[in-house]
Amino acid sequence: MNDQWYFEIGDGNTYGPYPLEKLQKWAAKGNLMPTHRVRNADSDEWIIAAYVPGLELTTTAPELHKTKGQAGGKSLGSFVRGLGKKQQPDSSSDTPNATDSLLSSSEPPDIVALCDELLEISFRRNASDLHIDPEENVVLVQLRIDGVLEPLRKLPKSILGPLIGRLKVLSRMDIAEKRLPQDGRFTAELGPDRRRIHIRSACLPTTHGERITLRLLALETEQLTLNRLGMSASALKTFAEYSGQKQGMILLTGPTGSGKSTTLYAALRHRLANHPGRIITVEDPVEFDVVGVAQAEVDSGDKLRFDTALRNILRSDPDVIMIGEIRDHDSADIAVKAALTGHLVLSSLHTNSAAGVITRLVDMGIKPYQVAATLRLCIAQRLIRQLCPNCRKPRQLSHAEAKVIGQPDAAGSTIYEPGGCEKCHNRGFNGRIGLFEFLPIDEELARHIVEGCDEGGISRYARAKGIPTLRDDAATKLQAGLTSFSELVTIAVW
Ligand SMILES: [Zn+2]
Repeated sequence: MNDQWYFEIGDGNTYGPYPLEKLQKWAAKGNLMPTHRVRNADSDEWIIAAYVPGLELTTTAPELHKTKGQAGGKSLGSFVRGLGKKQQPDSSSDTPNATDSLLSSSEPPDIVALCDELLEISFRRNASDLHIDPEENVVLVQLRIDGVLEPLRKLPKSILGPLIGRLKVLSRMDIAEKRLPQDGRFTAELGPDRRRIHIRSACLPTTHGERITLRLLALETEQLTLNRLGMSASALKTFAEYSGQKQGMILLTGPTGSGKSTTLYAALRHRLANHPGRIITVEDPVEFDVVGVAQAEVDSGDKLRFDTALRNILRSDPDVIMIGEIRDHDSADIAVKAALTGHLVLSSLHTNSAAGVITRLVDMGIKPYQVAATLRLCIAQRLIRQLCPNCRKPRQLSHAEAKVIGQPDAAGSTIYEPGGCEKCHNRGFNGRIGLFEFLPIDEELARHIVEGCDEGGISRYARAKGIPTLRDDAATKLQAGLTSFSELVTIAVW
C-alpha cells in the first residue's frame, strides 16, 4: 500500500497527501482524532483513523491532548469554532511546524474540546439529557432541564460526523456502523469538583444523519434523597416505616419520567442506612451505583436472561430485592414469591393510579389472595418543576382555579408564578419535586382485594379513609408556593 494518506477533520476540506509518519505525529499530539477520516492515496475508501494500523495512537490522543492543555495552561476550547472563543496565538514550540501551518490555515474544530464543553454545560445547568440532533443544514444541540427541552446552540452541519464519531468512541459504540441504532455508556468527570458522572448514550440514524442522546444518569437521582423528594412529613414517615419492613412488596407507579427510580434508590439508601442487610437489584439499566448494594444489569428485552437473573438472585440470600420494573406475569410471579418467602421487594409498574397497581397485578395473572398477602404499599408518583424561590411572583388564586384544584374555598389565597433570574437561568424553575399518593394495604383493604374489588372500589375505599390523592398533594404544593398552577395543569393529575 502507498505510504501517502489524505485526511479530513470535519471542516469540509481534504488534506494531504502526507506520509503516515506525519499523521502519526499529529495523532500523538491530539490534532488528528480517532474519529477523523483518512484515506490511502491508492484507495477511494475513507476509513476512521482509529482503524488504521499505525494510527492506534489516535485513541490515546484525547488524554495526551488534555495533559498538554493542562500543563501548558492552554485552553482546550482554543480551537473550537463557533463557540465564541478566539483562537489563541500558538507560539509554543511543542507543536510541529506542519501542524502549525495546518491549524493556522484551517482552524479545525477541536471535537474533543467541543464534547467536553457540551458535557460540562449539561452538568452545570443540571440537564438530564443532552441531544445532538442533525437537521437539514445545521446540528441542533438541546438540553433537557427539569423535563423541558431547551435549545443550547446550533452548530455547522460539517461538525456532525466528527462529533457523533467522538461520542461513539467514548460510548464504546461501533464507529463504522451508521445504519443501526446503538446504545452505550461512559463516565465523565464534570463540574468544578470533577465529579464522576455516568452517562448513557443512544445513537439513532435519521434522514439527516445520526442523532445521539446522552443521559446524565446520577444527577437527579443523587440529589433527591428521601428527605428532598418532596414527601410530606406524614408520607415520609409512612415510606420510611414500610421500607424498613422485613417482607412484602412496595410498588411504585407513574408514567415514564415520573421519578420512580429516584424514589426506589432513595428507599434503598434509607434501608441501607437504617436496617443493615443484603440488598440486591436487577435493573435495566443500572442508573446509579449505590454503595453497599449488589446491582445486576440485565437487558429486560432479553426475557429469558431477565427471569433467570431474578431467580438466581433469590438463591443468593438477599434481604431486600429491587426489581427495576415488573413488566409481565413472570416477573410479577417471581416478585410475589420473593415477597412471600421473607424478602422485601421494591419495584415499579406502569399504571395510572395507586389503586391501579392492584388490578394490574391481577391482570398479570397474580391471584387476588396473593396480592393481598404480599402487597404492603402502593405509591403513585409524578414529578413537577419547583419554582425558583428567588424570583417567584405572588398572585391570587382565582375562583375557577380553586375549583380545578378541588378546593373552592381556597380562592383568593396566595399562589406563585415563575419569574426569572440569574439563579434559575431565567427559567423561573429550579429542580423538581414529586407529587405522591400513598395507598397502604391494611387488613380491610386486603379483604376487599381478596373479594375481587375493582379499581373504582379501591379508590372509593381510599377516599373514605381520607387518604390524600395526587391531586390533594398537588393542591398542597401549589398553596405552599412550591410550584405554579400552570405547571400542575401540564401534568394533569385531575
Ligand atoms: Zn429565579
